[in-house]
Amino acid sequence: MATLYLIGDPVAHSLSPAMQNAAFAALGLPHRYELLRTPADELGVVVDRLRRDDVLGANVTIPHKERVGSLLDQIEDTARRIGAVNTIFKRGGALRGDNTDSGGFADALAEKDVEVRGRRVLLLGAGGAARACADHLIREGAHVVIANRTPERARALAEAIPAMVGAGHSFGTLSPAPRSLDDYDVIVNATSLGLHGEDALDGVALRPDIAIVDVIATAAETPLVRRAREAGCVVVDGLGMLLHQGVRAFRLWTGLDAPLAAMRAALPRST
Ligand code: NDP
Repeated sequence: MATLYLIGDPVAHSLSPAMQNAAFAALGLPHRYELLRTPADELGVVVDRLRRDDVLGANVTIPHKERVGSLLDQIEDTARRIGAVNTIFKRGGALRGDNTDSGGFADALAEKDVEVRGRRVLLLGAGGAARACADHLIREGAHVVIANRTPERARALAEAIPAMVGAGHSFGTLSPAPRSLDDYDVIVNATSLGLHGEDALDGVALRPDIAIVDVIATAAETPLVRRAREAGCVVVDGLGMLLHQGVRAFRLWTGLDAPLAAMRAALPRST
């Protein structure tokens, strides 16, 4: 039996233990996925603990995704590009860091047939989740506009994008979010708004031909997702991204194809 951890602070709200433990049970694997609340000053000690033989790997969440890479032995290309690690796995005794958020986001969109190539995408947020989403959207050829409360952070993301996705892609920045969505086909909420019942587009009307993507993975629907369903939009909620980043992490830890149906069934709503 081996243990896997979710390293972050806070972690208590996470749906990952239910989802990953359901996957281990479905395949008859004796592993356990556990929450490990990790204050910043304990990150080094916790990463050392991952080196023990009875630990298979970990997920990493706020606030350690950017910092943890410097404590690992090797960083995969995707995590290096995005500048954040969300999955730690082992190969030959070495601790390696990867980022499955960008691929999980891509898989969640694909599952709902949301095409972004050539489409006008409003990306709300400029933190780690927004970087993972931007990585996929811009490489796929979407016309992306980034809107963020703090303009400096939007600018910092814009400046990081050429190194992330290569030169020659065009995108814009706005601050704050627009009051009308006339110029957009797809909206991606990659802020933390919605975690505590906030509407990331409060007071902004939704059209049924817009696709709404929300990264917030909570047991209850966010106000934005609820409004989008009522408006008749195609909706990709945060559980879809959570599911697919978890599927990719499971494969890195075990080398096995993840039992998608069991993982989906362990989440609180169908995604
Ligand atoms: P960060 O702290 O790096 O970024 C938070 C973002 O939200 C920033 O753009 C911030 O704006 C914005 N924001 C926060 N509060 C407000 C507010 N009151 N008004 C306007 N904007 C606000 O977090 P991450 O990017 O790492 O994570 C964001 C969310 O994505 C989290 O809830 C996380 O759980 C979720 N997530 C979900 C995943 C999934 O699998 N579904 C995967 C990864 C993340 P500013 O820059 O102005 O502070």
